[in-house]
Amino acid sequence: MFTRTIDFLRELIAIDSVNPSLVPGGAGEQQIAEAIAREMRAIGVDVELQPVEPRRPNVVGVLEGRRAGPTLVLCGHLDTVGVAGMTAPFDPVVRDNRVYGRGAEDMKGGLAAIVGAVRRLADTGGLEAGRVVVAGVVDEEDASRGAEAFAARWRGDPARRIPDAAVVAEPTDLRVGIAHKGFAWLHVTTTGRAAHGSRPREGRDAILWMGRLLARLDAYDRARQEQRGHPLLGPPSLHASFIEGGREWSTYPDRCDLRLERRTIPGEDLDEPVMEISRILESLVQEDEEFCASVELVFARRAHEVPEDHELVQHVRAAARAAGATGGLCGLSFWADSAVLGEAGIPSVLFGPGGAGLHGIEEYVRVDDVLACEHALATLARSLCV
Ligand SMILES: [Zn+2]
Repeated sequence: MFTRTIDFLRELIAIDSVNPSLVPGGAGEQQIAEAIAREMRAIGVDVELQPVEPRRPNVVGVLEGRRAGPTLVLCGHLDTVGVAGMTAPFDPVVRDNRVYGRGAEDMKGGLAAIVGAVRRLADTGGLEAGRVVVAGVVDEEDASRGAEAFAARWRGDPARRIPDAAVVAEPTDLRVGIAHKGFAWLHVTTTGRAAHGSRPREGRDAILWMGRLLARLDAYDRARQEQRGHPLLGPPSLHASFIEGGREWSTYPDRCDLRLERRTIPGEDLDEPVMEISRILESLVQEDEEFCASVELVFARRAHEVPEDHELVQHVRAAARAAGATGGLCGLSFWADSAVLGEAGIPSVLFGPGGAGLHGIEEYVRVDDVLACEHALATLARSLCV
């Protein structure tokens, strides 16, 4: 009773594509990119592999319409997180109308739906106008090198028209994801003065100083959680990720390092998290002029948002409804490649099949959702590419 799409999904899950920059020794994306390339060529789509890292190519397929028109990108990442603790990560069991296995929900279900949508289009007379570009990209679970390489095709080349729209088929339970959070990784150091533990006049305790900052951050963040924040994403947040400091029992610690993560919402500048911590550090210096600390931004990714009344959002909602979904809107707490495409100037939303257990030890995607997603994406291409 299963369509080709579900068989293909099972083939994708059976291919190990654990991200090697996340998990040393991970298989990478070469084999899964080749499998998707073969499937799309069989459908009649032009396919190329775009090298990103050694043995880690993006797979890009183009279904051309009969005349010029808008370009729709359907994007999904090829990599998965690791499989520690899973009993049969690459054995795609189908049970209770679900497909189990690593990457089933995040996001081989979405990839299978994308390829299935292109198959539907090809099997039902092709595309009237414009083109559908399938982008299977590497490395989303780490540094999104694949989406960056894909988006770079349009940078610095005015002759290449920027695509008109993109859908990233990450799991949204078939709702239309118009916003997601960004994040910033920050490194804070307090610098005290080492001294014998018996000599409080000489020592300056970098760990206790970090404690002052931590207490401020805690209060600051709790107050912020009371605020409304973004209508779909709520307020920003932060948490302490790692802390390190001290030398020995009997020595005043001269240094303490804190690494923390701040989740951002649309509208916040990339440097806002650093500015916020700098302001708190300044106020701590006001209270104690010996207090010494610094903050640096290690890495950051912007939050992403498409206006609710954007034409793409309306098209995706209508396509979702035509496939039996509600067409409801949502925001996603996680960061996704849609931000990279959005920064490249491509209006991007998220829309994909639901399930459970992403990054967990039991992961599945719902069969009906995958098929509805496929249906909706094909409908979307027909309504947008005219
Ligand atoms: Zn994902």
